Order: sequence, then structure tokens, then C-alpha cells
Amino acid sequence: MPLCYNARLMSKHLIRLYHNLEFDEIKQHTLEYGTLSGICSKCKELSVKIDMTSCPKCGTQFKYIAIQNVREHLPKMIRIMGERQGVYFIDHQDFKRIEGEQKARSLLG
Ligand SMILES: [Zn+2]
Repeated sequence: MPLCYNARLMSKHLIRLYHNLEFDEIKQHTLEYGTLSGICSKCKELSVKIDMTSCPKCGTQFKYIAIQNVREHLPKMIRIMGERQGVYFIDHQDFKRIEGEQKARSLLG
């Protein structure tokens, strides 16, 4: 099933882009969004709502949002894309995979 929707003005579709990014920067500014609530990737605060632009605990600005179940939250994503310029949606699996690799590497020394 393709990730697409019918916009009012033209045929817009969500297409995943690949960027070569610095993960340390991403990790400082990502809102990880699960089924019901979000987590700040910087301080791991648990009560973050998807509409929050910064963390209520550490104050970091959310420049990236990693949604676990994109299909379930597609309407929210599209709304946020329209309302907030400069916020990027990143792939949740990519985020968790790289985070896991970093953790494993730090444990190995
Ligand atoms: Zn935080």
C-alpha cells in the first residue's frame, strides 16, 4: 500500500528521501513518537505530545520527528507538515537501528 493522500490542490505524495546526516545532531533534537505518546531523544522524557515543538523537561527543540507507525499517524503527519516549517520526519527504524549500533559500539569500548 503506497503512502499517499489526496491533497486539495494537487496530487501530493509522501516520498521518502535519503540524506547523509550527522546522527549526534539528530539524537539531540528528535521526538520519538510511539502509539500514544512521545519520547524526547535527548533526555528520554516520556510525556511528550506530538504537537510540542520542544521538550517540556530539557527544552531541546524538536527538529525531527520519528513516528513508529506511520500509517496509523498519517493524518497527524500531514497536518504537522502543513503547520510547522522546518520540521523533518525521519524513519523510526533508521533512528533505532543507528541508536542501537552506537550503544553496542560504546559497550564494546
Ligand atoms: Zn528532553
